[in-house]
Amino acid sequence: MRMKKTFVLFFSLFLSFNVALAGRKVALITGSVSGIGLGIAMEMAKGGYGIVLNGFGDVDSAVTQVSTFGTRVTYINADLKDPRQIASMFQAIVSTFGRLDVLVNNAGIQYVSPIEKMPIEKWNDIIAVNLTAPFIAIQHALPIFREGGHGRIINIASTHGLVASVDKLAYVAAKHGVIGLTKVVALETAQTNITCNAICPGWVLTPLVEKQISDRAEQKGATIEDEKSALVSEKHPSQQFVTVEQIGQAVLFLCSPAADQMRGASLVIDGGWTAQ
Ligand code: NAD
Repeated sequence: MRMKKTFVLFFSLFLSFNVALAGRKVALITGSVSGIGLGIAMEMAKGGYGIVLNGFGDVDSAVTQVSTFGTRVTYINADLKDPRQIASMFQAIVSTFGRLDVLVNNAGIQYVSPIEKMPIEKWNDIIAVNLTAPFIAIQHALPIFREGGHGRIINIASTHGLVASVDKLAYVAAKHGVIGLTKVVALETAQTNITCNAICPGWVLTPLVEKQISDRAEQKGATIEDEKSALVSEKHPSQQFVTVEQIGQAVLFLCSPAADQMRGASLVIDGGWTAQ
């Protein structure tokens, strides 16, 4: 009798836990194993979202960190250069969660070189990951959002989607493309509960930028610390880096009802870079 009671108690706890998790909104953040993507995943998990992580690197550490907030966290291994792997990722999300509420196109890569020396392979890779992958991911997300009657698409562009810098040809071209993609998708969904916006961060201290800092320090024979402050001071009047938490909070804002009529916007978080 006591065993039966314990079983019923355990089963109802299990059921209510799963019903609670099932009711939660789900967000896919591409490239969320490090840097800005991981920061966004952490803020969204804190905000109660179920999280789908993607990207390469220390997956176990990312899953452990994001799981601390008690929402459901899944990792999907998909190389975004391959459209078939993007398709499989969306199939896996639907079969695992049965829903998707937010798509954050965050994954991105960089290669620094003057145009004459830019290898075509680097150009193709940057366009594939930074521009084509968001286009394909949006194509897969939209039917799910239309069926669910709502959705949020947030593209992590860059100040380099608005202004240029030398030696970043492919990246600047791709990020300007992301801003255009954002506007068109926003117009095509304008009469629905689906919104599409971009965030344009300035410098954020992540592995992508740390590599640029160490390359510059090596070229100049400077220390990492000196080059870090040189880099941020060149572009940010605030002379401070943007943090991943600030970007995560901006994503949460774009997912909130306050942003229902933000459509096709580029939210700039850049320490004053583009105000100059
Ligand atoms: P990061 O290198 O820390 O993260 C990039 C993520 O993308 C990683 O998780 C990586 O594994 C993933 N990724 C790369 N190629 C992939 C592929 N083919 N398939 C799947 N995942 C892939 O860099 P970050 O600085 O966090 O950059 C995140 C985004 O923010 C990028 O789009 C970047 O352009 C943008 N951004 C960064 C800064 C900055 O200062 N760090 C500024 C503006 C915009």
